[in-house]
Amino acid sequence: MKAIIISSTFLVIVAVVFVVVQTLVRRHPDRYDVVVECADGHRYSTYWIPAASYKAIRLGTTRYQRCPVGRHWARTHKVDPSSLTAAELHAARAIHDRRIA
Ligand SMILES: [Zn+2]
Repeated sequence: MKAIIISSTFLVIVAVVFVVVQTLVRRHPDRYDVVVECADGHRYSTYWIPAASYKAIRLGTTRYQRCPVGRHWARTHKVDPSSLTAAELHAARAIHDRRIA
C-alpha cells in the first residue's frame, strides 16, 4: 500500500484559499454565489470566484465541476439571472453544490 504524503505547505495554501473564499462569499453573496447550468441543462447555485476554484477545473469562462442535480461531472457556465423566470431562478437557488460557510 502506498502512503499519500501531503506537504504542510500545501495544507496551508488550501486553508488560506478556503478562508479567502469564505470571506468573499460572506461579504458579497450576490456577486459570488451565482446560478450556473451544466452541459445537460441542470441549473443550480455555486460559488464562482475568479482565480479561486478549489472544487472545479477552470476552462476559460466555463468550469468542469460536479453537478448536484444530475450527480455527475460536467462543463458548467454561469447563467444571467435576468434570463430566467422567477420559478426557474427559485428552483436553481434551492440547490447548491456545496455549502462552505
Ligand atoms: Zn448536470
